[in-house]
Amino acid sequence: MFYQSKSVLVTGGAGFIGSHLYERLLDLRASVYCVDNLSSGLRANVDHLASHPDFHFVEHDITDPLALEVDAIFNLACPASPKSYQLDPIGTTRTCVLGAMNVLDIATRRNCRVFQASTSEVYGDPAQHPQVEGYFGNVNPIGPRACYDEGKRVAETLFFDYHRMRGVDIRVARIFNTYGPRMKTNDGRVVPNFVAQALAGDLLTVYGGGAQTRLFCYVDDLVDGILAMMAAGPEAIGPINLGAPFEMTVLALAEMIQRLTGAGSGIVNILLPEDDPFQRRPDISRAQAVLGWTPRVEPEEGIMRVINHFSATESARFTKVPA
Ligand code: UDP
Repeated sequence: MFYQSKSVLVTGGAGFIGSHLYERLLDLRASVYCVDNLSSGLRANVDHLASHPDFHFVEHDITDPLALEVDAIFNLACPASPKSYQLDPIGTTRTCVLGAMNVLDIATRRNCRVFQASTSEVYGDPAQHPQVEGYFGNVNPIGPRACYDEGKRVAETLFFDYHRMRGVDIRVARIFNTYGPRMKTNDGRVVPNFVAQALAGDLLTVYGGGAQTRLFCYVDDLVDGILAMMAAGPEAIGPINLGAPFEMTVLALAEMIQRLTGAGSGIVNILLPEDDPFQRRPDISRAQAVLGWTPRVEPEEGIMRVINHFSATESARFTKVPA
């Protein structure tokens, strides 16, 4: 087993995807070093494991070098929702670029495998649909999303240059929209926004009429793909798209969440944010061929899990006080 008895570093481990990933790594009997500066990650996602013998939390900003003797690295550190990565765009670019260099330097020194959480945002507002890994993208380099899009593109460049020049054993996944329990209700992304709004009886904020499309991958499926990629051989270097094939419009998502929550609240149309991609869908044939990976959780089932999670953890917030 690839992970058993290995020391594994997860940067961004207190975040939404990181917390699901380290749980699975602990199940696989790895010893986990979770590094996070808690800028968008949550202490609650790590505090409950304080006494776990194989879990070590290190509060650290990955833009600063780090001396850890590990056997494998997952680099997930970066705010990922447009709302959070645009709060401090310079900081976001620094995290993408310096964070990548710092983990690659550890991987070079340790001669260990390193995974990069890249993103569908490297395709920008894609002119090619669906997006295959060979598509170079359509990114505005000076727009409000550029800090994340270009930061992640440079990170990919660094991964492949460290691989070519120094022989570092890399895995690069382009992760498409992912959702699940433990997203923050104020995260700003569409699934937690709509679920929180519906449960609170508020209007669902559909941007730009909602004709734009996304696909939604349940976090457990994504973690399966990440783990499979890391355990596979050099054929899985990537980049490999990891995303669900369930493309839908944002308006259809709003209507589905209204139906599943039984929300009586309506929808309000809000101006579309600048550079918001009009359509997005991964071609996942590479992931299917190389990893045998296909997402399994249907959107309705996954969204119900988020609704139940938000209801259980935030019930007081969603209970309307009668007038
Ligand atoms: N969106 C929306 N209402 C919201 C939040 C997002 O209509 O309250 C839209 C957003 O404009 C985008 C899509 O939903 O077209 C997905 O946005 P998200 O921030 O989740 O991720 P993105 O794919 O843009 O990175």
